[in-house]
Amino acid sequence: MEILKTQNVSKVYDGKVAHKALEDIDLVIEEGEFVGIMGPSGSGKSTLLNMVATIDQPTSGSILISGKNPLEMKHNEMAEFRRRELGFVFQDFNLLSTLTVEENIVLPLTLEGTKVKEMEKRVAAVAEKLGILEILKNRTYEISGGQAQRTAIARAIIHQPKMVLADEPTGNLDSKASRTVMEMLEQINRDDRTTMMMVTHDPIAASHTQRVVFIKDGKLYNEIQRGDNRQAF
Ligand code: ADP
Ligand code: ADP
Repeated sequence: MEILKTQNVSKVYDGKVAHKALEDIDLVIEEGEFVGIMGPSGSGKSTLLNMVATIDQPTSGSILISGKNPLEMKHNEMAEFRRRELGFVFQDFNLLSTLTVEENIVLPLTLEGTKVKEMEKRVAAVAEKLGILEILKNRTYEISGGQAQRTAIARAIIHQPKMVLADEPTGNLDSKASRTVMEMLEQINRDDRTTMMMVTHDPIAASHTQRVVFIKDGKLYNEIQRGDNRQAF
């Protein structure tokens, strides 16, 4: 089953000179895949991810998530759909520094109105999976970068979305922390069948994907299918 299908997606940014950031992007991601998007700076990676995230809209073409076009939904329905289908991981973690690790992780559930008992159960499960049980009561300024990204991943998956969108998840981490974070994303992909779409420059991060799609000057131009032989990249 296709979780993502972009059809002829183009994006033009208006300015003094109009700039075509994406041109005729056709990309299909199957449920359960772990796909990396690589390309030079300015090639359109973030633009593409933002459109899939429904943060931004294509100038032409369409984007289907689980067969549906979120842009055709009413505002509330779209917000609900986005929450159910997608989780987000960012380069700079995007944690709220006034909250503890645990409070950051439960935010998506608070929005859904989940019962306290159920929240506690889910927090314990994701925190164990991500190796952050011992820091749940810490404030986010007391933890390391690797721990911060693992906290952000816990927050991204606690409501069990179908697909996680990650923008340079290892961009602010050293090699050791990068490996740990990527091993955890890979494990979530394997065990929970959560689809992963990740923009990255980092060969360590790319080595954990099953397929890498290359983008340049707003166009897809190559693809490497690696299946489950992930180490061989
Ligand atoms: P950097 O960190 O400088 O981006 P990468 O290893 O990501 O280094 O590679 C640089 C760019 O070269 C990639 O983003 C991609 O656009 C291109 N590239 C690398 N390997 C391939 C390949 N096998 N086929 C096509 N393009 C590739
Ligand atoms: P990448 O993520 O691969 O570095 P981006 O998607 O950020 O690339 O940018 C693609 C192109 O679109 C770049 O030339 C960038 O300058 C341009 N661009 C991105 N966002 C905007 C914007 N909001 N307004 C105008 N141009 C933009």
